[in-house]
Amino acid sequence: MEGKSRREAEIILNQKSSFPIHASPEKVRHLNEHEVLVQFCMDQELVQILEEFKNLQGFELKNQSYLEVFKKMGRFALKELKKKKGIQSSSSSPKSTPPAELNQVPNLTKFNPNSRYISKPLKTLLWQRQDGKCAYTDPKTHTKCGSRYALQVEHIEPFALGGLTAPENLELLCPAHNQLRATQRYGEEKMRKYVG
Ligand SMILES: [Zn+2]
Repeated sequence: MEGKSRREAEIILNQKSSFPIHASPEKVRHLNEHEVLVQFCMDQELVQILEEFKNLQGFELKNQSYLEVFKKMGRFALKELKKKKGIQSSSSSPKSTPPAELNQVPNLTKFNPNSRYISKPLKTLLWQRQDGKCAYTDPKTHTKCGSRYALQVEHIEPFALGGLTAPENLELLCPAHNQLRATQRYGEEKMRKYVG
């Protein structure tokens, strides 16, 4: 297998195997409320489409999972289709699509750092800053979560403890990491009682 790419090596191994793997029919399993496991064989045409799309997108999709590539393709196709059919894309945006006013420059005079309320321009600003992804970074591995699912804006220093509602004290987190932060904070507060 020397000098062969992983792809070439896999093909050769599959051909040599006494039980070569053949494409099975599509399988669809609903794992939970939000996730569906779909198993199917990509034919040559789809492989080529994906490769071409990834290449044209450049670094943005380099080393990204198929999930991210399909999502990007889907969003792109949907946007084009809606434009063609004259449908405004803001009308049916699911949870994790950016706010409709994303393309406008956020009006920063509209937020009050002493109010808990997080205004739309502020949300837009955070969305742009984090590219619509969860900001959580694993302290050990330094890997970013990057989830785009159901993101929530959270205060880093809690508002109740004097944290301001300002871009530098806010971040977008996915539900799992929002929960994790809350648990960590609860632990810290408990510790404060003993120390202080
Ligand atoms: Zn996350």
